[in-house]
Amino acid sequence: MINCQICKREFETDKAFHIHLKKHGMYQAEYYCTYYPRKSLFYRRRIPFKNKKDYFSRQFIDLNEFLTWEKVGEKDLVKSKALELLEERAREKKYSYAPFHNEIKTLGLPPISIFKKYFGSYKRACDLLGLSPVFDQPMPKCFNDMELPQFEILVDTREQDPLPFKKTKIEKLYVGDYLFGDGTYTSTFVDRKSEGDFLTLEQAFIRHGLNPLVYRFASFQTHYRKPMEYSEESVDAARNGLLHLQNQVRRVAQNKAGQNGSVSEVFKAKFIDEINDDLNMPRALAVVQEMLKSDISDAAKFASIMDFDRVLGLSLDQLDKPEALPAEVQKLVEDRQAARANKDWARSDLLRDEIQNLGYSVQDTKDGMKVLKA
Ligand SMILES: [Zn+2]
Repeated sequence: MINCQICKREFETDKAFHIHLKKHGMYQAEYYCTYYPRKSLFYRRRIPFKNKKDYFSRQFIDLNEFLTWEKVGEKDLVKSKALELLEERAREKKYSYAPFHNEIKTLGLPPISIFKKYFGSYKRACDLLGLSPVFDQPMPKCFNDMELPQFEILVDTREQDPLPFKKTKIEKLYVGDYLFGDGTYTSTFVDRKSEGDFLTLEQAFIRHGLNPLVYRFASFQTHYRKPMEYSEESVDAARNGLLHLQNQVRRVAQNKAGQNGSVSEVFKAKFIDEINDDLNMPRALAVVQEMLKSDISDAAKFASIMDFDRVLGLSLDQLDKPEALPAEVQKLVEDRQAARANKDWARSDLLRDEIQNLGYSVQDTKDGMKVLKA
């Protein structure tokens, strides 16, 4: 039974109660932070409100706080807290195995080194929870003894300390660390001695705050039938490439000075040819550049690129347009502006959390509040 702290009415479910809260003109964050203030374990900072469950279970603001606390905390306490955080994740996800290494990294759970330090190994920590790690097996012993006389084993160039095989050849592999060199490429092997060898889209782009359009632009650089290679450099190149294109579009938009041009039939035909040639995006982008650098009028360039962008999907017509905020976010923004006008900083902070929870970043500048999709 949930008891409203404001009017003392009782509610069966969180859902019903949260609807009721609106009658008090209150957001969840505001209600819980006011009536159930919680401070983090070590920094003693206000726990940011994401949702009720997270709010009441969270003890650290972030991994840094845990790691700072770990250095000074009592050993047994640190041990049990580290296990608890691991168990919580497994329970929440109903895992029958322990969270794997990359998951630990992305979620900001205590790192493997902590489990090694306090338990000897990650596996031993997992054993205490009755879970086993997904990757706890070394390469099978028989792997070395297997008779594979006719094949050589291809070893990826990134392997710094390759396993010993009779015949090996170092080669750049796109998937895995080892490959049978028999040309069938039916099996690849990953030797998981480091957990950082797989990069997910989420890690590579979203966590680094990269615009998804950069990913889209990056994917145009390689024909879709070929494997796309990821590197910091390739991401940088895509980011710069997109920025360059956007600036080109800005320039023609400005230069055309309100004139309406028509789509260049010549370049349109070229563009469509490349698209129809098994979706050859690298070539299609080359046509875009050729067109933008040609001597057709700026108005025609603008009309053409907008036309091509129906295929490219790079949102070139949205450049510099402030994105309309969803009503829910807009309402929070207005409430926050009012709170700030009243110098109610606590409420302003709570509302900022609410806005951020909806996936928007909030910056307070001298020109007012800037709210952008995070
Ligand atoms: Zn009430």
